[in-house]
Amino acid sequence: MSIPGVIYYEPYPPFIQTDNINISMIYCSNCGAQVVERIPAGDSRSRHVCLSCQTVHYQNPKIVAGCIPERDGRLLLCRRAIEPRHGLWTLPAGFMENGESTEQAAARETMEEACARVENLVLFGVFSIPHISQVYMIFRASLANDDFRPGAESLDVRLFEESEIPWDELAFPVVRLTLQRYFSDLQKQEFPLHVEDIIRPPRRHP
Ligand code: ZN
Repeated sequence: MSIPGVIYYEPYPPFIQTDNINISMIYCSNCGAQVVERIPAGDSRSRHVCLSCQTVHYQNPKIVAGCIPERDGRLLLCRRAIEPRHGLWTLPAGFMENGESTEQAAARETMEEACARVENLVLFGVFSIPHISQVYMIFRASLANDDFRPGAESLDVRLFEESEIPWDELAFPVVRLTLQRYFSDLQKQEFPLHVEDIIRPPRRHP
């Protein structure tokens, strides 16, 4: 059964399925003592808590920033040289680093994965993926020039016309959704901000 207005995608990336449960932690990263699971006073969720140094180890969603790099009507995609989804195509994107803005992170990832400089970044979509606790922030961007090549995390980097997009070889559901929305917007020549959730489909019972 699907819920109207919610987008379901299969298959799913082989990420840790968190479902709001903390990623396993054994030792306190502050003092090295063993942690326990407790609900802190005033909180409603179980956290890893260090009884030795009193640190509560909160775990929160991660932001992934990325670009839709465009050049003369074509889009730049990267073929992944790393797991997960080795060999499949993706938009340049990755986890934000501390101390940078979302635009800086998106531009940095494009430089790292495609050795390409982007400019004129405009926020295109905010895509939440609750079951893996990630939020994608994707920017439209212009490639500054024709200078690009595979970075360390890419096997190949190419510009694609819409008709050439390798739909069956895309790495992640969020890449597919982003490209679908982009080409739909392009046809209408309107680029509203997309705010959507990608939900894991309910498990099927035999
Ligand atoms: Zn501790």
